[in-house]
Amino acid sequence: MDCTPILDALARRVPKDQNTYIAPDGILRCTNCHGTREVTIDLLGMGSKIVPCICRCMARQRDQEIQRLKDQEAYDRIQRMRSLGFQERTLAEASFARDDRKNPKISDALRKYAEHFAELRKDGKGLLLYGPVGTGKTYYAACVVNEVIRSGRPALLTSFPRLINQVSGADWADRQPMLDRLTDYSLVALDDLGVERQTDYTIEQMTMILDTLYRAGIPLIITTNADPSRLSKATDIRVQRIWDRILERCHPIAVTGESRRRGKGQENFRQGKEILGI
Ligand SMILES: [Zn+2]
Repeated sequence: MDCTPILDALARRVPKDQNTYIAPDGILRCTNCHGTREVTIDLLGMGSKIVPCICRCMARQRDQEIQRLKDQEAYDRIQRMRSLGFQERTLAEASFARDDRKNPKISDALRKYAEHFAELRKDGKGLLLYGPVGTGKTYYAACVVNEVIRSGRPALLTSFPRLINQVSGADWADRQPMLDRLTDYSLVALDDLGVERQTDYTIEQMTMILDTLYRAGIPLIITTNADPSRLSKATDIRVQRIWDRILERCHPIAVTGESRRRGKGQENFRQGKEILGI
């Protein structure tokens, strides 16, 4: 059989785009990787057909695009979680990288907690950060919440007063579902636990919130200005119960040191003095 007409026909084929050429074997190839850009498929006894295929560079480009979309999706999800997880915008920016490390021991301990969160989460292990006002307890809690969100898990930083307000403001029927929604989070940080001098209603609400999270095994990070040694001796049995629940799952860490608020105030004062000269 004389193949010349076929070869001639193949030689006359014009590549469809400038990144391809017709190789001497008559196959369309990529100018970059020289991989084939078409393949002959057998039509089960009914002849054959040439169909386009992708070369190595196209496959690489496709994989990069898939990865880019995945990254974008993950980024969007994290941004969404961040906006849901922080009710205070400034705390959404809190991170160990931005931490001033005035208290390196605490910074390191909390960073380790965030790093080992996957294992600690299984046992519902949380933290109790206690100490005087202004020592950065909320900031540390926010750093952990942010780190957990960054790892792709939903986490929330809120406070007992805020939660109680939300629950009290809801219709009766919505209250339990509202609390149950808290258990969708992998970590819940409750800022500013003040169990002393509370009304019966507040204690009841706090117990309900803690019970819901406790039953679901959600790790908690609780910050408080209260003194644990005093609270464990509280005369109110309900306060003791709240306290027992917290200590059962939350590792206590004393956050002490100079008040950052006062430190910041002094710094502002110094700056003011420098500028004003008085
Ligand atoms: Zn190629």
